[in-house]
Amino acid sequence: MSELPYSYDAPVSQALFDRASAVTPGGVNSPVRAFRAVGGTPRFMVSGSGPYLKDADGREYVDLVCSWGPMILGHSHPEVIAAVQDAVSRGTSFGTPGEGEVALAEEMVDRIEPLEQVRLVSSGTEATMSAIRLARGFTRRTKVIKFAGCYHGHVDSLLAAAGSGVATFALPDTPGVTGAQAGDTIVLPYNDLDAVHAAFGAHPGEIACVITEASPGNMGVVPPLPGFNQGLKDACAQNGALYISDEVMTGFRTSRAGWYGIDGVRPDLMTFGKVMGGGFPAAAFGGRADVMGHLAPAGPVYQAGTLSGNPIATAAGLAQLRLLDDAAYARINDVSAQIQALVSGALTKEGVAHTVQNASNMFSVFFTDRPVRTYEDAKAQESYRFTAFFHSLLAGGVYLPPSSFESWFVSTAHDERAVQRIADALPAAARAAAEATEA
Ligand SMILES: *Cc1c(COP(=O)(O)O)cnc(C)c1O
Repeated sequence: MSELPYSYDAPVSQALFDRASAVTPGGVNSPVRAFRAVGGTPRFMVSGSGPYLKDADGREYVDLVCSWGPMILGHSHPEVIAAVQDAVSRGTSFGTPGEGEVALAEEMVDRIEPLEQVRLVSSGTEATMSAIRLARGFTRRTKVIKFAGCYHGHVDSLLAAAGSGVATFALPDTPGVTGAQAGDTIVLPYNDLDAVHAAFGAHPGEIACVITEASPGNMGVVPPLPGFNQGLKDACAQNGALYISDEVMTGFRTSRAGWYGIDGVRPDLMTFGKVMGGGFPAAAFGGRADVMGHLAPAGPVYQAGTLSGNPIATAAGLAQLRLLDDAAYARINDVSAQIQALVSGALTKEGVAHTVQNASNMFSVFFTDRPVRTYEDAKAQESYRFTAFFHSLLAGGVYLPPSSFESWFVSTAHDERAVQRIADALPAAARAAAEATEA
């Protein structure tokens, strides 16, 4: 990655990256942070305030990653910080039940009607892993249907044809996942109900659950076609399988009740993370009380966590959720629509083929003029144009996800000044995208 057509002015980040690379594989603790898809020096951030991030070289960016979704109120929101400081002053972990975790669970159950009971965990990966185990334990079946391009964390059985970093790096199958672990996973094309019916027909009485991103954001934003989620739910109900809606990304972001608040399709189980932790490691799975009742200590399916329901994480998550009222979602949806229009306008002006797709306030830009409905469609875009676009925006003080297979995220803190900064940087970025050639 040394011969890049971009000038880099990030010597402090580069020095930190060199140190990091000596002690950590690839220099990062989560692959998509490494800029491998776009090349260049990952920016080491030192602080965040509202819609802005500041890097170790002292440069400020409008942040369109928002920690990959969680920072929906922007960085360092004073009320969230105050809740965290208050919680920290009383101790950091007790290994006992505490009121904070009850209050967070009550807030979630109150917002999402099908969510009768929840179990708190520490990451989205843990949430989906546990939901799959519970679905298998409840149904006494083994097979799981997932969709190509959907990412559900790095759960062994769910890494087949996954989105996010797996998509970014075009990893075919992950070494370390055994045939036995992957063999019970049936991977189907997204938005294809015929394929789902065929799979149920081919494996009668064997399929424990269908897991899907409520509205996928890990192959870029590819919303379900009208009727797709309902069709999944119906197929599950007819075949004795559970419908698991993964709302780790969409939950409490796309509406007050997440994607369920938009499509109203009632899942048997749901998974959450990102926004509900307020920037801390808090996640959850939950749903039907009769299914959740199979979980230890109420039932036989084992699941546990030393830091589950951590008092700092639950205080941060609860403070964040309580600030997310209808006005907050209206504000985020509005600023998201403004930015989508600006991006599309700039690319159109330079004659760059593109499609902006959104799911509520989540959106992404595909460098193709065809609608993207499947992972295959997403992979057919001209990703090299994204690379040029990304680096031009970075130079212009706008921080995008460093991959064309990711959603962009905004917050209530993205104000007129932040939008103006994006508008100012876009013409040059669109020109760079237009001039880009395949490497
Ligand atoms: C981010 C994500 C996960 C994994 O969550 P982690 O906290 O990174 O383990 C799972 N599912 C979806 C839909 C996600 O976007």
